[in-house]
Amino acid sequence: MPDHRSLSLWHDTLPADDTMQPRAGLASSTDVDIAIVGAGFTGLWTAHYLIEADPSLRIVVLERDVAGFGASGRNGGWASAILPMSLDRIAAEHGRDEAIRMQRTMYASVDEVGRAAAELGIECHFAKGGQLDFVRSAPQARRARAHIGHLRAFGLDDVRWLDPDEATERAAASDLLGAVHDPHCAAIHPARLVRGLAASVERRGVEIYEQTTVSAIEPGAVVTDHGRVRADIVVRATEGFTPSLAGLKRAIAPIYSLMIATEPLPDSVWSEIGLSHRDTFADGRHSIIYGQRTADGRFAFGGRGAPYHFASAIKPEFDRDDKVHAMLHTTLRELFPQIGDAAITHRWGGALGMPRDWYCGVGLDAATGMAWAGGYVGDGVTTTNLAGRTLADLILRRNTELTTLPWVGHRSRNWEPEPIRWLAIRSALKLPAAADRYEARTGKNERARTWILGKLLGR
Ligand SMILES: Cc1cc2nc3c(=O)[nH]c(=O)nc-3n(C[C@H](O)[C@H](O)[C@H](O)COP(=O)(O)OP(=O)(O)OC[C@H]3O[C@@H](n4cnc5c(N)ncnc54)[C@H](O)[C@@H]3O)c2cc1C
Repeated sequence: MPDHRSLSLWHDTLPADDTMQPRAGLASSTDVDIAIVGAGFTGLWTAHYLIEADPSLRIVVLERDVAGFGASGRNGGWASAILPMSLDRIAAEHGRDEAIRMQRTMYASVDEVGRAAAELGIECHFAKGGQLDFVRSAPQARRARAHIGHLRAFGLDDVRWLDPDEATERAAASDLLGAVHDPHCAAIHPARLVRGLAASVERRGVEIYEQTTVSAIEPGAVVTDHGRVRADIVVRATEGFTPSLAGLKRAIAPIYSLMIATEPLPDSVWSEIGLSHRDTFADGRHSIIYGQRTADGRFAFGGRGAPYHFASAIKPEFDRDDKVHAMLHTTLRELFPQIGDAAITHRWGGALGMPRDWYCGVGLDAATGMAWAGGYVGDGVTTTNLAGRTLADLILRRNTELTTLPWVGHRSRNWEPEPIRWLAIRSALKLPAAADRYEARTGKNERARTWILGKLLGR
């Protein structure tokens, strides 16, 4: 049995009464109203909103490992309003008003995460300080201004440019030319939220079976290594792990994101750095980086850069990559030299789900009873909440504002077979770092790689 508390900083800092001892597996075949596969945020928010709406429903959640084992327990803790697909893309397919409605619904969903957690008594350290994107070079400044202008063109005008003094006052990062502040983001302790949700739905009568591997999902049934679950509705909530299900090998690609955490830093260091509102932070480079000041006074900091593994493999040894973890440490020290030699106490990672078209989706096929949600790429903390509420409405056949949002019913096409998938994703993952190197060398905006990336991202 793996030591679950060593999975990440978040698992290691769960309340002492949560030992992460696995719940029992499914004992025998059974018959239920709704079977949910995967006990991450998607599965558990769905269970939560369903049982809240109709306590008489018989719902089971089937989980291969333990609740919160996947990305939901390990992430950067940004409850942001970011979507993987661009507003332009949504507007092109559904019209400008729908793109705006989708974005505003995401804004409201950040608050819903905080509201629901508070109502359920889950202390997940929710702090809505917004998101700070540091601007540290001329090309980054051009992109930041263009980003603000782009949002304004959609009538979304509460993202603000901060001049260098104002930016430094919020967070004294190095080489600041300014920053972009987006108020629609909260920092959370993700494992507290996902574990709290599991305990909460269980108290309300949802049955959670852990240590139960699902091998296939079918209309009306889930096939597990412990027996068969017959269900009117089957919800697939397996995100990056989806390729392990029969027939879904190419549905989504697992991409690794890796993180580090420092030891708790003294107040004197935080008074130099700031981040007193616990704003989440990144900067305007092409490579994805993300950080937060945790409630217990550490930096939790992550980024991409780990390779895609052939045939969509997910293995515990992929969670740690010395080169990427060292790069993250160097980057954090460049951003905040004030941390000096603070020890790195935790190094971990996990797989998120990348759909072929970078467009997340949620839906229910009424004819078969098969429901799904996912494809959030690196931005699922809030989106999973919206997915859970939307799935509950769809399953309960309620026509609401949520069930007509532009991502409802969206299905991404399959990835290419191997080895094409491996070649394409490996190459694409190298582009952002190459673009950053070009900009650092020349001081000019990188256009060619940015264009290719944009095409790959469907922007
Ligand atoms: C390191 C990292 C940092 C991230 N940072 C952020 C961030 O700051 N903000 C943000 O918005 N998003 C972030 N993300 C993405 C976000 O965490 C995910 O989008 C989100 O948690 C997905 O939730 P989920 O419930 O759909 O999937 P998961 O949490 O991955 O849950 C899927 C569950 O299904 C189970 N499962 C899989 N296959 C089977 C099977 N065959 N049988 C039974 N059970 C199965 C798994 O064990 C797992 O528990 C990050 C992801 C990672 C890995």
